Amino acid sequence: MSTQELKRKFIEKYGESGEEARVFYAPGRVNLIGEHLDYNGGYVLPAALEFGTTLIVRPRSDNKVVFASTNLPYEASIDYSGLGSAKSGEWIDYPIGVMVELKKKDLPVSRGYELLYHGDIPNGSGLSSSASLEVVTAFAFLTLEGGDTDTVEISLLSQRAENQYVGVNSGIMDQFAVANGKRDHAILLMCDTLEYELVPFVTGSYKLVIGNTNKKRGLVDSKYNERRQQCDEALAIFKKQLPSLSYLAELTVEQFEAYQANIEDGIVRSRARHVVEENRRVLDSVQVLRINDLKQFGQYMNDSHLSLRDLYEVSCEELDIMVEEAQRIPGTLGSRMTGAGFGGCTVSLVHEDDVERFIREVGEAYTTRTGLVGEFYVCGIGNGVEELKGDN
Ligand code: ADP
Ligand code: MG
Repeated sequence: MSTQELKRKFIEKYGESGEEARVFYAPGRVNLIGEHLDYNGGYVLPAALEFGTTLIVRPRSDNKVVFASTNLPYEASIDYSGLGSAKSGEWIDYPIGVMVELKKKDLPVSRGYELLYHGDIPNGSGLSSSASLEVVTAFAFLTLEGGDTDTVEISLLSQRAENQYVGVNSGIMDQFAVANGKRDHAILLMCDTLEYELVPFVTGSYKLVIGNTNKKRGLVDSKYNERRQQCDEALAIFKKQLPSLSYLAELTVEQFEAYQANIEDGIVRSRARHVVEENRRVLDSVQVLRINDLKQFGQYMNDSHLSLRDLYEVSCEELDIMVEEAQRIPGTLGSRMTGAGFGGCTVSLVHEDDVERFIREVGEAYTTRTGLVGEFYVCGIGNGVEELKGDN
């Protein structure tokens, strides 16, 4: 939907008023490489996508904050002074969580507003529509209320809204990528220090194709906790030789090779190898992206998938099949699972001339082999949160 169409819908819903309606936007995100590294002190390399959440917002003359979305039927009007007293279990918990966090920071929303959201990120597919919703809300309120729109602070505030108010325990990567992304750039991010760097990633005649396996995830939490324990176990063993080590991903590949025999449990050893080698791959990816060597980057994506499949064991049959079929298409430079695994999405780098064929052939083969219907989204790398001015 164009901004103009959305503005028309806004007027249909709320009517005309003397106040100015302003338009804000935040993207979804995908992690390009660097999986299961965030809690191991390693790097991730996400990018903002070219689709996202648009928000039109206009001040009102009373104390009501009125929420509506073109995506979901639930609507609500709340008094900003009685904010956050009860969670609704509806989508407005995300923006209300943001308002609660603003209030905690002594930047309360101080007047009534009408809001209309429109998202074109598939919900619940792992492309972070929730982070997009939070970040666009935080940015809009801070802009309208004259607060500081520092995008690093906005990502932290939005993460707290999701963790504390909504009650979903997620790391910082999603909100960070959504808030700080930049067109034709990936974001090299160290999750615990928030040290980051924008890395040029000009996809040119290649497109990112995100494939949703539509596989329902099961047991994710218990497997995730198990992986974390295994990483802690490996870290404790390496620390005997390297006492200053605080995270597994700080190990160089050479250090890993020198001491890995001290880990008796072969599974724990494999987990640690994934962490160390994946972190190396992220840094190597940054090097090749700087010289625009997309072919080598694609190879790192493929290697990352194998490591997640065989060493870290967080893939699943559906993800493996989708990746395998993707890699068969001649215009595919690389393909891997993205996100925590056990279901969710794949990301592939595909030549634009082969995208149609990719979607058709990978889709058909995936359905034949799994009985599930995959979905595919084609996109480039877009900007992080911003105010949209003008009418396009
Ligand atoms: P993901 O972040 O992977 O897309 P989540 O389950 O974390 O999945 O977040 C999806 C939820 O976010 C939706 O169920 C809905 O409550 C909310 N949401 C996202 N985008 C919108 C939107 N445009 N309008 C209303 N609610 C939205
Ligand atoms: Mg989410």
